Amino acid sequence: MQISVIGTGYVGLVSGACFAEFGVNVLCMDTDAKRIARLEKGDVPFYEPGITELVAKGISQSRLSFTTDLTRAVDHGQVIFIAVGTPPKKDGSADLSYVEEVGRGIARTMTSYKVIVTKSTVPVGTGELLKKVISANQPKKVLFDVASNPEFLREGSAIEDFMRPNRVVIGSESEQAASIMKDLYRPLYLLETPFVVTDVPTAEMIKYASNAFLATKISFINEIATLCERVGADVQMVSKGMGLDHRIGSKFLHAGPGFGGSCFPKDLAALVQMGDRAGYPMQIAQAAATVNSQQRDRMIDKISAVLGTIKGSTIAMLGLSFKPNTNDLREAPALAIAQALMQSGAGLRGYDPAALEEAAQILPGMIACKDPYDAATGADALVLMTEWNEFRNLDFAKLKTIMRKPVLVDLRNVYESSRVTSLGFHHVSVGRAPQD
Ligand code: NAD
Repeated sequence: MQISVIGTGYVGLVSGACFAEFGVNVLCMDTDAKRIARLEKGDVPFYEPGITELVAKGISQSRLSFTTDLTRAVDHGQVIFIAVGTPPKKDGSADLSYVEEVGRGIARTMTSYKVIVTKSTVPVGTGELLKKVISANQPKKVLFDVASNPEFLREGSAIEDFMRPNRVVIGSESEQAASIMKDLYRPLYLLETPFVVTDVPTAEMIKYASNAFLATKISFINEIATLCERVGADVQMVSKGMGLDHRIGSKFLHAGPGFGGSCFPKDLAALVQMGDRAGYPMQIAQAAATVNSQQRDRMIDKISAVLGTIKGSTIAMLGLSFKPNTNDLREAPALAIAQALMQSGAGLRGYDPAALEEAAQILPGMIACKDPYDAATGADALVLMTEWNEFRNLDFAKLKTIMRKPVLVDLRNVYESSRVTSLGFHHVSVGRAPQD
């Protein structure tokens, strides 16, 4: 089978490279000529474990190629995946202009039957909208179907998530399109991956409902964490005690600085907008977003409280990306917190294993450091912001000799207080009383 993927970001490139690995002939298209030029040479423009190797393999086996030419991409694929961005507009609703632009382009150049699939996260009703856009822009009538195939991969483990998903969701009104899609995903059938085949609006809603639920779980445990601090309980043990209940599950129950990334904040906002437009306020999704933004303020308060005064202090921040194993800084809590600290007069020394260069451009006042110890030198507090593995076994004896004050603000609860305090550090974490 031949397919095309429009948009070569995290989702489009990972999907394209993984389908190529399944034996499909994939042409990836993007309007960003620089990105395509790099990809043609096997140079992946973002950090994601394993993707460079997979792209190289796809290219060398002639199953993966790249273009900026939409006409070529439309011609190539029997299935055309749309994986362009759907960023938030000012009112929180999803900006569908990129999706619509692709729809118009496909309509103008399509000469044979195609299955046009939204892989981007799009609000309920987008499949219908896309159908209208394509029909209205066709110079002559060519049959097509629109399907929805939302993507659930996580940055940092995107390839594994794509290759071994918990489920594949396919929304389609046409049996022909659904059967082509199932055929495409046949390698996953062999792994007994559950398939949810439904109508397009339901498939579109499954994605928003899933992301909003996960985001709510995070905000829920963060709210419990704040209460734990006030009433003298330990959120780590609360999470453990809750998570062992199979009805609850242990995932997404880690207290911390709140969620970030390109998906949860924007998808919550879009769901709230969808509710408003439908005349039904989505109160839980709204509350999850509100708690999340307050959580960042609470983290700033924590840092401020331990320092006494932020002005004139030097803060070392470890981890800047929104989570480990990615260089994605979109909506990263670290950025908002770093900006607020610097605005209050702190000096900031930052380190991240993958996102440092980009972060330094966004945070021009930050001193970009070469490793955790470089960052900690002369600092009044070490703030562990993103739980990269390389921060899990820091040398506290060394840190103590190079920091101005031995203070660890552990916003991911990576360390046991007893261990850190026995090494002479003041330990502040989330959802537990501070320890000396
Ligand atoms: P991204 O910003 O990394 O990539 C989008 C790409 O689309 C860019 O390379 C851009 O140049 C390209 N593009 C924009 N307009 C185009 C056009 N008209 N024609 C061709 N290419 C065009 O985005 P992403 O993170 O891959 O997300 C894409 C979609 O997938 C979004 O809707 C997002 O919500 C959803 N999603 C993302 C993730 C994730 O973890 N990043 C997971 C699941 C779903």
